[in-house]
Amino acid sequence: MQAREAFYLGGRWAPARGRAPIPVIDPATEQQVSSVPAGEAEDIDAAVAAARSAFEAWAGRSPKDRAALLAAAADALEARTDEVALTISTEMGTPLGFSKAVQVGNPVRVLRSYAEILAAYSFEERIANSLVVKEPIGVVGAITPWNYPLHQVVAKVAAALAAGCTVVLKPSEVAPLSAFALAEIFDDIGLRAGVFNLVTGLGPLVGEALVRHPDVDMVSFTGSTAAGKRVMALAAETVKKVSLELGGKSAFVVLDDADLPKAVKVGLANCFINGGQTCTAWTRMLVPAARYEEALDLLEAGAAKYPVGAPTEEGTRVGPLANARQYEKVVGYIEEALASGATVVAGGPERPEGRDTGYYVRPTVLAGVAPGSRVEQEEVFGPVLAVIPYDTEDDAVAIANGTPYGLAGGVFSGDQERAVRFARRMRTGMVDVNGGRFNPLAPFGGYKQSGNGRELGEYGLEEFLEVKSLQL
Ligand code: NAD
Repeated sequence: MQAREAFYLGGRWAPARGRAPIPVIDPATEQQVSSVPAGEAEDIDAAVAAARSAFEAWAGRSPKDRAALLAAAADALEARTDEVALTISTEMGTPLGFSKAVQVGNPVRVLRSYAEILAAYSFEERIANSLVVKEPIGVVGAITPWNYPLHQVVAKVAAALAAGCTVVLKPSEVAPLSAFALAEIFDDIGLRAGVFNLVTGLGPLVGEALVRHPDVDMVSFTGSTAAGKRVMALAAETVKKVSLELGGKSAFVVLDDADLPKAVKVGLANCFINGGQTCTAWTRMLVPAARYEEALDLLEAGAAKYPVGAPTEEGTRVGPLANARQYEKVVGYIEEALASGATVVAGGPERPEGRDTGYYVRPTVLAGVAPGSRVEQEEVFGPVLAVIPYDTEDDAVAIANGTPYGLAGGVFSGDQERAVRFARRMRTGMVDVNGGRFNPLAPFGGYKQSGNGRELGEYGLEEFLEVKSLQL
């Protein structure tokens, strides 16, 4: 895979002279496959200047023109699906089929959705004697993680561009390569210089430079809660708007009238998808105490249907974790849970058989997890499911809501209305009821320490708009 040696600034590839490379490691082989330049604060200055000078003209383009460019980007990305999917699987380890369908498929859908939203969205509203106009907020700094590296980027960039903002993107240093493909696509379709800019580098250096920059009007951040707190504190210096999509510890609540085999199947899939490296993953399964043993048997059998393997191997459902740090963290959580009395239903801390190289862990189901323990409260970000028994529905609500997070969740019941009633009691931004599908037009985001603001659809667009009232 080609090493990347330039940033995309002001509509051209600007060689990153003198910038040390950051290696990109294939987690299946532990070998370096590429590198990207480690930017510095002055690279952010150049990118922000380019975005600022492009802002007025881009904001002045009609929504129809902006929609046409987003639709063109969707088509161009779709045409590169195989190549970009392989890039993502190579840089962060997800199975190739999933990469095509979701890691690239979702960004294509999201780009297209914003082209469609723009066709119908009204940027003006009358309220009595006022004309309320919705205007792009300005220059947006976008900072993204590695787990859905292109989707997280596009969720911000497509909405910001649709709103009429210009963007400086700082993608994850762990999985930065698909962002370069996106820059190429914008370049190919003739997006005006400076509207989209790309600088790679480390969070505490270039990420913070972007957040602090006085000429950046808004920061849209997706990543860990710890880094999100830092971003919010730094942004306060310039009172810039911050939108945060952070971590989660989501609960999947199986009610006592549920079809248990079906619920277990849906719950396991949600937890193990993308190697458990999904912010919305249901990592706690709450089952009625009376059905706990039955659930554990089903989970043991179900977990066996998640073969671990290289992303490109036929039949792989769980690839390696994205990097060495993630591998150590996840295995550490499993070991600590076992030391504090949890038992293994499936998986465990040992390497999967025959996988001596690569950051592979066994998809793991834990029973007897102590309430309040770290594995019960903290985001593991790996294929690790804690199964927790509950007595009453009120207890289930209390356990489900009993973490500092509030991102997502699920509920399963034989009675749809009962499930919806339960879902309303969950203090989270999203709840899937009886296996309801992901909807790329629905608002995406969290309560509590899972963040502020929403992405996707119209709500996502509005994050990037300022509101002005003209009294007539
Ligand atoms: P991370 O917080 O380590 O890094 C995310 C991004 O922030 C990277 O680009 C990184 O370079 C940058 N960064 C790190 N420190 C920074 C700082 N001090 N200032 C500015 N930028 C900084 O997260 P990660 O390990 O890349 O991703 C995993 C995390 O992301 C998980 O916690 C996961 O839940 C979360 N996530 C949330 C969502 C969501 O929508 N809620 C989606 C995906 C991932």
